[in-house]
Amino acid sequence: MPQAYDPNNIFAKILRGEIPCKKIYEDEVALCFHDVAPQAPVHALVIPKGEYQSFSDFTLKASSKEVCGFFQAVQRSIEALKLEAGGYRLLSNHGEHAGQEVPHFHVHICGGGHLGKMISRS
Ligand code: AMP
Repeated sequence: MPQAYDPNNIFAKILRGEIPCKKIYEDEVALCFHDVAPQAPVHALVIPKGEYQSFSDFTLKASSKEVCGFFQAVQRSIEALKLEAGGYRLLSNHGEHAGQEVPHFHVHICGGGHLGKMISRS
């Protein structure tokens, strides 16, 4: 991961309102919106409003209030998407080996149908 947070990453632009998103849920610490290139029948992303590059950056640097509030926001998003009954998968990519594309911490929420094997190496 680069040393410094890049304020020009696409999710930072979404948070500043410079790029639109299909919003699902928002509160003081997090925003949830539909992924622009869905990999499942339902594919959403939850991002913190603070400037964190990845899961490790977030959990090491964010306050307990932010960390707790973020995961509560993930749950609220799952409820808004009505995924609890059928099931869902949470995923977060950190760094090169995981293929992280956007250097702003995010959790993917996937559901809406059977998701197949957990990890593809293709
Ligand atoms: P990752 O590989 O974990 O960094 O995932 C980044 C995700 O962001 C991918 O699933 C992209 O499809 C998604 N994405 C990129 N740009 C946008 C955008 N403008 N709005 C919504 N999702 C986006």
